[in-house]
Amino acid sequence: MDLLEHRGKSLFAGAGLPVLPSRLACSPAQAQAAAGELGLPVVVKAQVKSGGRGKAGGIRLCRAEGEVAAAAADILAMSIRGQAVTGVLVEKAVEIARELYLAISSSRAQRGPLLIFSAEGGVDIEEVARRSPAALVRAPVDPLLGLCDYQVRDVVAAAALDPELAAPDGTPARQALAGVVRALWRLYASSDATLCEINPLVVTGSGEVVCLDSKVTIDDNALYRHAELKAEADAGAEDREARARKAGLAFVALGGDIGVLGNGAGLVMSTIDQIAAAGGSAADFCDIGGGARAEVVAAALDVILSAGTVSALLVSIFGGITRCDEVARGLVQVLGQARVDVPVVVRLDGNAAAEGRAVLAEARLPGLTVAAGAAEAVRLAVAAAAAPAGPGARREG
Ligand code: GDP
Ligand code: MN
Repeated sequence: MDLLEHRGKSLFAGAGLPVLPSRLACSPAQAQAAAGELGLPVVVKAQVKSGGRGKAGGIRLCRAEGEVAAAAADILAMSIRGQAVTGVLVEKAVEIARELYLAISSSRAQRGPLLIFSAEGGVDIEEVARRSPAALVRAPVDPLLGLCDYQVRDVVAAAALDPELAAPDGTPARQALAGVVRALWRLYASSDATLCEINPLVVTGSGEVVCLDSKVTIDDNALYRHAELKAEADAGAEDREARARKAGLAFVALGGDIGVLGNGAGLVMSTIDQIAAAGGSAADFCDIGGGARAEVVAAALDVILSAGTVSALLVSIFGGITRCDEVARGLVQVLGQARVDVPVVVRLDGNAAAEGRAVLAEARLPGLTVAAGAAEAVRLAVAAAAAPAGPGARREG
């Protein structure tokens, strides 16, 4: 389960990691009030489970009082990579002197935890790894020994901070950085995390070390050991139905692992029955109705896939008024942008079906199969869901 930034930061605070004072807001008025309590300047940040919010315009620095409500209104109206923004974090802003990168991630290649540090933070870490691999510290952590002092010193050395640099309270920045590395390891180990990432970890103009962002993923298999987080995961399921209603979708979560999306309640219900008859189990009922604008398809995919338990997706469209080629264009648009990492099977019949199939064939989306009909689509989706995770499985990191 991926945690939102504000949730990750409350785990950070509990683990003794330095975070700035902040408040969660769900309306422009709440954001404005939060800024009043915190004092300006503040940063208003979209709370969605996706990186790159800065580039998408989901993060705004506000220096004047009048800017906060407007920034929050803009950001709350956004949808970032298919995820509607329903909350913003209003956080005290700081002056950034240096941006660093620090993460502990469960590495398949290492078969264990991997500590990753870069003196170049704030940017895409994959980009740094490509451009200057030597700039990264990569230290496998022995899960029995835990993080060793020499590994902490390696990070501090790589950061190359001025030894004289200290916070106003006298704490040397190098010592603060070492404390952050140790605390992040303790949090990773004690929360059954598969990822704890701080990007950027900043050194402020006044010599303090602060976690400006958080990205935490908890192993779903360990959620039963974390009652509080588990409750949130369950509450998230209700959120999905509310989100679906807002997008004008008829949606019911069902608990299986094959995501179902179709147009028309009867078609969707019979598809669910066919999946059960073929030995599979549907994750949801989702009817996108007539017409098929890309935004509707995007919202449906977001709602269906955000459960995190879907192992294959079945899209079944029978075009009456709906033109299959419009649905196909919507799918191409959404699947081309979003990170959909499960196999997708599409069935298109009826109005403009041939054109729709041509659109999909031309797009050559990896992991997408066009079925010859409804029965074949069900067979393929059930087989894909039963297959061990292949190239469609989540990438490491
Ligand atoms: P992401 O784009 O989703 O990874 O969001 P981040 O939380 O990492 O924020 C993106 C960028 O916004 C950071 O790299 C900073 O440059 C900037 N930013 C965030 N908080 C502050 C702040 O308090 N002060 C300033 N000046 N910039 C900030
Ligand atoms: Mn970030």
